[in-house]
Formats: sequence, C-alpha cells, structure tokens
Amino acid sequence: MPPARPPPPCKEPACESRSEAFKATMAAATASKTAQPVCPPDRDELGRHSWTLLHTVAAYYPEMPTASEKAAASHFVRSLSSLYPCKECAHDMAEAIEQMPPRIDSRADFSIWMCELHNHVNAKIGKPAFRCNLKELDEAWRTASRACELAQGKAHGEEAIS
Ligand code: FAD
Repeated sequence: MPPARPPPPCKEPACESRSEAFKATMAAATASKTAQPVCPPDRDELGRHSWTLLHTVAAYYPEMPTASEKAAASHFVRSLSSLYPCKECAHDMAEAIEQMPPRIDSRADFSIWMCELHNHVNAKIGKPAFRCNLKELDEAWRTASRACELAQGKAHGEEAIS
C-alpha cells in the first residue's frame, strides 16, 4: 500500500477551531446590536451541521433503495469527501471511506455505517463513541425520544413512549 499522503495545508475558517473565549467575545460584541452578523462556520460548527445532515439523510434513506438511490448515496458521501471545506477532515474522510466503503443496501446499513464513520472521527479527536444501533440512531435523528419531546415542549399531556 502506498504511504498515506498528508492533508493539504488550509488556513480557512472551516479548517480551524475558534476558541470559546473568541466566541464569547464575538457574542458580547454583537449582543447590543439589533442585526447579528452571519459569520463563517469554524470546523466544529461546520462539523455539527454536516453530521446533522449526514445522519438525517441516512435515517430517511429507503428501507429498500433502488439502484439509482444506492448510486446517489454512494456519490453523496464520496463527493463530500472530495469537496468538504475542512481539508484535513476531507482527507481523513476519503481515507476512511477507502477502508470502510459505504454500506448502502438498506436504511439500517447506511445509518449504522454513518455512525461508524462518525465514531472513526470521534476516536481520532478524542470524543466518546456513539452506540451504533438503529433504535438509538433513529431516536437521535428521526423519531425522537421522550426526552427530546419534553425538551422541545411537544409532550404536554401525552402518555410516555416506551
Ligand atoms: P459532533 O461530533 O459534531 O456530533 C453532533 C452530535 O451527533 C452529537 O451531539 C452526538 O449526539 C451525535 N453523535 C456523536 N457521535 C455520533 C455517531 N457516531 N453516530 C450518530 N450520532 C453521533 N474535526 C476535527 O477536529 N478533525 C477532523 O479530522 C474532523 N473530521 C471531520 C470529518 C467529517 C466528515 C465531519 C462531518 C466532521 C469532522 N470534524 C472533524 C468535526 C467533528 O466531527 C465535530 O463535528 C466537531 O468536533 C464538533 O463536535 P461536537 O462535540 O459538537 O459533536
């Protein structure tokens, strides 16, 4: 196997992590103004939003996808690994996809594969692993747990969901 290539250098906001102090300063500086500026996402914000999209796409993927839906899913994740704005993340994602090609034969396969991909990144950056089973993934990204409903104020007077 050829040696792994280093990621290309990148100084864009999407490649860097703003410190909490900087974020707090920005928030304080803008709090008094009526219109909040739209600021470019840093690596963490971009990552959170990207994972939301990725896990939600997987959670809504068909139970029995057609050949064209499978091709679209494969294309989607491979395109992301080439276009993702955080170059280090994109480089790592491309390598991970080489090692663990997307499993796209069903909604369960794709959801669990996405969870494993996310866990690969979590391990790399020292974050805890998520349990990759469909029930917990669905509760996080599609059906909502009782705790989510309560947090979103949608559960008034309803019976608890088992
Ligand atoms: P996130 O990791 O963004 O997760 C959002 C939510 O998803 C969490 O609150 C949790 O409830 C849930 N979750 C966590 N793990 C799983 C899972 N396995 N399955 C399902 N749900 C889960 N950052 C870097 O510093 N270096 C990198 O190389 C890097 N590579 C990335 C590659 C990709 C493709 C993406 C999309 C992001 C990458 N990031 C990288 C960003 C990083 O993964 C996080 O998004 C960022 O650190 C913010 O983390 P967070 O704690 O807010 O939660």
